[in-house]
Amino acid sequence: MKSIRIREGKERSLLRRHPWVFEGSIAKGKADPGETVRVEGPDGRFLAWGAYSPSSSIRVRAWSFDEAERIDAAFFQRRVQQAVQLRGRLPIDSDGVRLVHGEADGLPGLVVDRYADVLSAQFLATGVERWKPVIADALLQATGLTRLYERSDVGVRGLEGLEPATGWLRGEGATEVTIREHGWRLTLDVAEGHKTGYYLDQRDNRRLFAQWVERLGAQRVLNCYSYTGGFSVAALAGGAQQVVSVDSSAPALARARAHVALNGFDESRAEFVDADVNQHLRGCLQRGERFDAIVLDPPKFAPTAAHAERAARAYKDINRLALMLLAPGGLLLTFSCSGGVSADLFHKIVAGAGTDAGVDGCLLARLEAACDHPTTLAYPEGEYLKGLAILKR
Ligand code: SAH
Repeated sequence: MKSIRIREGKERSLLRRHPWVFEGSIAKGKADPGETVRVEGPDGRFLAWGAYSPSSSIRVRAWSFDEAERIDAAFFQRRVQQAVQLRGRLPIDSDGVRLVHGEADGLPGLVVDRYADVLSAQFLATGVERWKPVIADALLQATGLTRLYERSDVGVRGLEGLEPATGWLRGEGATEVTIREHGWRLTLDVAEGHKTGYYLDQRDNRRLFAQWVERLGAQRVLNCYSYTGGFSVAALAGGAQQVVSVDSSAPALARARAHVALNGFDESRAEFVDADVNQHLRGCLQRGERFDAIVLDPPKFAPTAAHAERAARAYKDINRLALMLLAPGGLLLTFSCSGGVSADLFHKIVAGAGTDAGVDGCLLARLEAACDHPTTLAYPEGEYLKGLAILKR
């Protein structure tokens, strides 16, 4: 077993059970990609078992802080089983569920979503890559399912020195799946969709949106960055007369359009616009359009804190435009999924947008990812999705 010695003073985060060891915190030791290492303090005392990643600035990801624990197949079976069992105890009204959420489930670099009877997984770090066959079997065993698709086609794998990898890991067949979310039917393709196929993290916020649209009697709704129209279906379910979905992905919009009919709504109530959201919002303003409810759910503008300033300008701009387009008494649901923008900073950005728009608003709620995307006390960096529900005065 190889050892990684931590520099003096750099062991504190591991003692708090934070699972990452950065390159600069290591005094000596190296290992092969994904190899299990013993991480030890400057005095040689045990701190953690972890997976080594020679090319990543996150050089070790901790598996366990228990010296007696062995990192073997049984370890992965236990962790996967715990993650799956936890979801069974959560209030989730869908058969689309995040079963494994990386570090928060003690499996750094692993993301697994269940869509009806298909599992879709991302292996994002050398540790889970090395244990992939064991993890794949453990997932089937814990869920009783037979089909697991891999979507490890994500840029961050490059930082780990890993090539993209996609395809069936276990089982085979059609990659299109229909899930049932809050009684709505939504389709996705695990091979073609974004990430693992769909954005499960917004599940609770989609239901809230349907409820608010209904309560407010919102008639005209604008769903920006709609992807396959989850919030659009929510708005129709809430009774909106007209929903405009805007996205720059034609395949996503085609699926959004299909979702209207699939859920039994009249197609005349839905409009789909293939456009850049910022430009579309400006066009709406010029045409004097007004909406009773608007959703802004953009992609990650700031992957890390280094991009925060440019991202802040982009967030502020779309939020300013949306606040101007809202009718008085209208609802804005606005999100950021940028890890580099904190909830606090996002609030300030949107407040600034309100000032620039000359609009005040009542903050109805602070929103976050659904509970199957947990954060843990030891790993607050896991928090990424934040949102605000604002009622325009
Ligand atoms: N709200 C969606 C998820 C949105 S993901 C849901 O509930 O499922 C972000 C979406 O923004 C993606 O579908 C992507 O295609 C789209 N997108 C990215 N940049 C865009 C731009 N500049 N204009 C319009 N859409 C954009």
